[in-house]
Amino acid sequence: MIERGNNRHGQDVIRKTTTRSTTHPFATIWVLQCGGCGTRYGSNSCDAHIRRCPTCNPDAAPGEPIEQF
Ligand SMILES: [Zn+2]
Repeated sequence: MIERGNNRHGQDVIRKTTTRSTTHPFATIWVLQCGGCGTRYGSNSCDAHIRRCPTCNPDAAPGEPIEQF
């Protein structure tokens, strides 16, 4: 688990929501922000520590929905 701060790919945890992840059955969605380009996107809480920016990294998993925030 990481608290607010960069993960190893330079992604900041902005907010931890209570919304269920769409990709992981026991996870919730966290809002991450890329330290490189500023893109905000959703990540499930289990993968947040290894998540990469979907804008900077075309091979990264697409972000989860965060439009309600
Ligand atoms: Zn980025």
